[in-house]
Amino acid sequence: MPLRLYNSLTRTKEDFVPAAPPRVSLYTCGPTVYNYQHVGNYRTYIFEDILVRALQLLGYEPKRVMNITDVGHLTSQGDEGEDKMEVGAAREGKSAWDIAKFYTEAFLSDCAELKLLPADILCKATDHIPEQIALVQKLEAKGFMYKTADGLYFDTAKLPDYGRLMSKEHLEGLKSGARVEANPEKRHLTDFALWKFSPKGAARQMEWPSPWGKGFPGWHIECSAMAMCFLGETLDIHCGGIDHVPVHHTNEIAQSEGATGRPFARFWLHGEFLLMNNAKMAKSSGGFVRLADLKDKGFSPLDYKYLCLTAHYRKQLDFTWESLEAAKTARRRLRDAAAGLSGEASKPGCAEFSKRLADALADDLNAPSALAVVWDALKADLPGGAKRAFLKEAESVLALGLFDVEAVAAVPAEVVALLDRRSVAKAKKDFAESDRIRKQIEDLGYVVKDGKDGAKAVKK
Ligand code: AMP
Ligand code: ZN
Repeated sequence: MPLRLYNSLTRTKEDFVPAAPPRVSLYTCGPTVYNYQHVGNYRTYIFEDILVRALQLLGYEPKRVMNITDVGHLTSQGDEGEDKMEVGAAREGKSAWDIAKFYTEAFLSDCAELKLLPADILCKATDHIPEQIALVQKLEAKGFMYKTADGLYFDTAKLPDYGRLMSKEHLEGLKSGARVEANPEKRHLTDFALWKFSPKGAARQMEWPSPWGKGFPGWHIECSAMAMCFLGETLDIHCGGIDHVPVHHTNEIAQSEGATGRPFARFWLHGEFLLMNNAKMAKSSGGFVRLADLKDKGFSPLDYKYLCLTAHYRKQLDFTWESLEAAKTARRRLRDAAAGLSGEASKPGCAEFSKRLADALADDLNAPSALAVVWDALKADLPGGAKRAFLKEAESVLALGLFDVEAVAAVPAEVVALLDRRSVAKAKKDFAESDRIRKQIEDLGYVVKDGKDGAKAVKK
């Protein structure tokens, strides 16, 4: 079955053929590193990882670029508000550069725990300022750019098919929106910043000289500049979360195609939201869960990955602790089954399942179907070795740690002894003593969690 992918540009599932097979150029928007990423963010990166691994399984050679947004992403989706990096710096009393470094490392460490393949090229916006300035110069030369007191803007009325990633109604809504415009010099509501000038009098930590004045790049220009710098003017695939359709990706298309006159990406793939309590999980709303929170509650990050794979990437997924618990149980059963399979891994016996797995992935990355094939294979009347060979193949795409021996995070004997003494103190209702022991445990770097089955110590 040929690989078919849902293309947001045409709003249909299309046969995917890269420009220069077997190579596939792929750009995926990365994190804004002003804070920890939440598990909603990771849903998008999990979908992109399955894309890369499915491409590999199907014989393609993807080259993936991911950016790190370490400047220019303002607190409003428009071009107003503060730079998220500077907000992070003020919040933690560190420099914006330190904030970027810290949260980039936190992101990469989470990705490793989720077994997400690293991008072939990981590039920071602040490392590519000259390329961004050069792109703005191209747009200036072609008449797409105009200058206002606070920065340089892209004139969206100059591009006849501006907004083609959106439905007509959506675009009309944006054009006639009721948003109060902070910059009265902007010609149209949809125009967006290519470069912002540093505010007079207020020192910014991250700023650069440019032909138009000292400042910093607009959020969208980094992705266009770095994507074209590493992958050429037309990409095979560009991905991101669904929230990027109306602003970030629409504007990436406008400025890239304005500059080159060529299609920027042939396929646009968007992952749907992870919800929590019926709303998008978001840092701004406060209702979000981090990978560290899952681990504190005894889940593996890969249990969360299993949960993500139970839903198609274009469907919303509701996060609940109950569904995570079910995912944990299912993944444990798969791992137990994998551990119990004996015999030499033999490929021929599992050809039918290999084909079904490839077909599920080729059908717009249908991960729930791929999981169903895995369960069917385990139930099938096949020799253990054949099942083992098939599970290894499935693991190469799903990367659920099916063959890992997970070390149970060992709590030091000293902490275990203190926990025992604390439970004796509590049984005697000696709460002063039990509080004192809790403090001792905390001093050793653990927090005490009381639960139905007694108390346990979790690393801080
Ligand atoms: P940010 O760090 O805010 O730039 O977001 C990083 C990525 O996570 C982007 O591709 C977003 O579209 C995506 N994202 C943000 N919130 C969610 C969510 N609740 N569910 C799925 N993806 C999300
Ligand atoms: Zn981007």
